[in-house]
Amino acid sequence: MENFEQTYQNRGIKFAKKYNMEYRRLGKSGLQVSEMSFGSWITFGNQIGDNTSENLMAMAYDAGINFCDNAEIYASGKSEEVMGNILQKMNWSRDSYIVSSKVFFGIKGLQDSKPTQKGLNRKHIVEACEQALKRLKVDYLDLYFCHRPDKNTPIEETVFTMHNLIQQGKILYWGTSEWSAQEIMEAHMVAKQNHLICPTMEQPQYNMLVREKVEVEFAQIFKTVGLGTTIWSPLASGILTGKYSKGMGDDFRLSREELSWLKDRNVVEENLKKADKIVALANELGLTAPQLAIAWCLKNENVSTVILGASKLSQLEENLKAGEVKNMLTAEVIEKIETILQNQPKHPPF
Ligand code: NDP
Repeated sequence: MENFEQTYQNRGIKFAKKYNMEYRRLGKSGLQVSEMSFGSWITFGNQIGDNTSENLMAMAYDAGINFCDNAEIYASGKSEEVMGNILQKMNWSRDSYIVSSKVFFGIKGLQDSKPTQKGLNRKHIVEACEQALKRLKVDYLDLYFCHRPDKNTPIEETVFTMHNLIQQGKILYWGTSEWSAQEIMEAHMVAKQNHLICPTMEQPQYNMLVREKVEVEFAQIFKTVGLGTTIWSPLASGILTGKYSKGMGDDFRLSREELSWLKDRNVVEENLKKADKIVALANELGLTAPQLAIAWCLKNENVSTVILGASKLSQLEENLKAGEVKNMLTAEVIEKIETILQNQPKHPPF
């Protein structure tokens, strides 16, 4: 941190701002995670070159981000390899950062992986963990997520396996991603009955366009089990920047062939109109739309960390400012946002 400006000049990056990153507990655990974190989906080992990945990680780390998110499936394992090479090269003290992986899809995806190479059975969880450790070049994963629920494995098998990995020192905390509140509670029940370690965190999608799970479905379990959340796609893959309203750029994520399903689902008139209005409101406040959209996620106290994604350094630099401006989202501003979104989820009437 002392040579912050020098480091960036050496890298040819015009970035000399120190951020006042804040840290939150990951749910009821004692783990302090930066309120913004950094993920590598689509980008590392795929959309962007390794040099850009390295500069993004360096920028994130120097801005106070202490958590980098990854998964076996990202770029078929290449995302973890790229991140592992960067972690090795940077030689940051291992106790200064948190790194994750996720298991379920297999590195080739559900369709192309062999039956034993996917799912949440003991064999795949244990082997995927070993493989992620090798690719990331670390001795343990701080966070290990079950990337989706697995209808073909008894929950007991998954909970016991995660507990054992913690006992063996291969992972520190385990959690889920896109599980329902009921599935998470089943895992807690099994863990409690058998004196095993409960899941600590869930990784759900949360942004101005997708709110139900975090705002309603999990409302009760935030209180009862102290669930932590590492939320994904805060910009709905970039739609909330407003850039998709001006047409599809060749270098935009959703112009990628493999993501046509996501484009069809999300690049729709209703979302684009909302994004345009978010841009206008952000400008009124002297902010950019991504800053406003990320700050809006940060205002939710049940969010432990907002995972940022970026394909360019300028994007990350812009988005990192969201932490500092979140207090500009007064009740009045939040009300204006609700008027634009018209999607405030309804809580049950009790
Ligand atoms: P976002 O919704 O924030 O999308 C990030 C993308 O938006 C960037 O890669 C970039 O794409 C575009 N973008 C970001 N900032 C700007 C900006 N300032 N101006 C213009 N465009 C911008 O987050 P992600 O969808 O990447 O999700 C974040 C992380 O969450 C992932 O990396 C992954 O770790 C995790 N995740 C987890 C999932 C799960 O199932 N558990 C699923 C999905 C993500 P481009 O430049 O290409 O347009």
